[in-house]
Amino acid sequence: MNLILLGPPASGKGTQSNLLLKNFDFIHFSTGEIIRKNINNQTEFGIKFKKIVNSGKLVPDSLIIDIVKNYLKNDLDKNIIFDGFPRTLKQAKFLDDFLIKNNQKIDIVINFELSYNILLKRALSRMICQKCGSLYNSITNKPKVAKICDFDKCKIVVRNDDDEKKIALRLKEYNNLTVPLIKYYEDKKILYKINSNNNHLDVFNKIKGIINDNN
Ligand code: AMP
Repeated sequence: MNLILLGPPASGKGTQSNLLLKNFDFIHFSTGEIIRKNINNQTEFGIKFKKIVNSGKLVPDSLIIDIVKNYLKNDLDKNIIFDGFPRTLKQAKFLDDFLIKNNQKIDIVINFELSYNILLKRALSRMICQKCGSLYNSITNKPKVAKICDFDKCKIVVRNDDDEKKIALRLKEYNNLTVPLIKYYEDKKILYKINSNNNHLDVFNKIKGIINDNN
């Protein structure tokens, strides 16, 4: 089963991915995570990405599509959670073609809906482990030791693109380029809308129900 998590920045895609990984047999495919790793490791891709990502804009489709081809080619027989990909119609159409060629398809798209105030509050209190990408929140999910990841003891930081100005920009990109995907998947009758203002466990129970209904 392949699942897409669709939603604005800080809508809970990462948190729900972690819960899904703990409870089901999925692998996690996050283009944001791959991009951050490339930036941290100063790869050729990373150097190209850094300025764009830090500005809050989306990376051009051609580069993202190259990443997807590269990173996914050996995992297409697994159950995949797509987190933060696709983000444009071009990416969505590419993904459909790519999966069809490999006898796969997208089964479920979860669309996270939440208010701007909650989204902003979550983004501004979000922290991430620089090494393993584990997510924390300075209000609701603090690490055991301040600024240190519980799992690998590496430093946790605020993302460079999680300040108020950049969140507004990312939201603008989301509204212009990603929102059209809602209709795209609605037309395919695989879109499920979830109220992500609620507690993350309530949200997870809803997603669990959708997965079980589709199994
Ligand atoms: P995320 O961690 O998903 O919020 O992604 C962080 C940043 O990486 C985004 O603001 C974009 O600049 C870039 N990015 C991640 N995924 C994509 C994508 N599918 N298409 C274009 N840019 C992306």
